Amino acid sequence: MRFIGHAFVDWDDTIAENIRYFNMAEEANAHLIARVTHHTYDVVRERGREIDLAVARRIGLGKESLGIAWVECYQEFCGRAGRTPDPEAVEAIRRSCRLPYEVKQELLPGAADMLGWLHGSGFEVTIWTAGDEDVQGRKIAESGLAHLAHRLAIVPDKTPERLAGALGDRNPDHCFVVGNSIHSDIRPALASGVLAIHIPTETWAYDHGRLDVTDANYRQIGAITELPQVLAARFRMAV
Ligand SMILES: [Mg+2]
Repeated sequence: MRFIGHAFVDWDDTIAENIRYFNMAEEANAHLIARVTHHTYDVVRERGREIDLAVARRIGLGKESLGIAWVECYQEFCGRAGRTPDPEAVEAIRRSCRLPYEVKQELLPGAADMLGWLHGSGFEVTIWTAGDEDVQGRKIAESGLAHLAHRLAIVPDKTPERLAGALGDRNPDHCFVVGNSIHSDIRPALASGVLAIHIPTETWAYDHGRLDVTDANYRQIGAITELPQVLAARFRMAV
């Protein structure tokens, strides 16, 4: 075998910061809507999050969904306040919602070293990420780490079926998924009989879900730098 194993590595909030930029957009939008419609920030933010989740479930994780959700939230609060929506406010909301998809991401501590370690240790490295191809591809290219990945697998959302497609004819026993999302990374991996290495982080409601932590393929680590110990046990390698 050419590789000692096949790594499927999540990108957002596993290798590079992501939710921080969504939180920034969410805060800006909730403040704007609260101010112009005279509702409290907390009420607006809560409702905006609900709509955001509903829109993402409906249309997927594309770059349009955040803006659609927060414009809808703005229109709803305008309705409650008896105001006509202002096109300038709509444009300001759309602009802040583009930030998470256009910003240059900061890498998470240890992430670059771990990708390098996987690549150098003989794993086939697949970046396994959900979103728009142009957005995810741009983020990976901009990170300076693209040379540490053998391939990119960018899908609209991560499901067991899409993971099966990305696995192809690889033996599931020789594969692992590492990521922060129960919904997107861990459950599809466990459903496919693949080692699932979970690095819990702050996530949005989309990523939440019930988890069978007794599954023999489930591992939880506190930081990506703990990856070598977990993999050494599974792949019988020296670390
Ligand atoms: Mg992630």
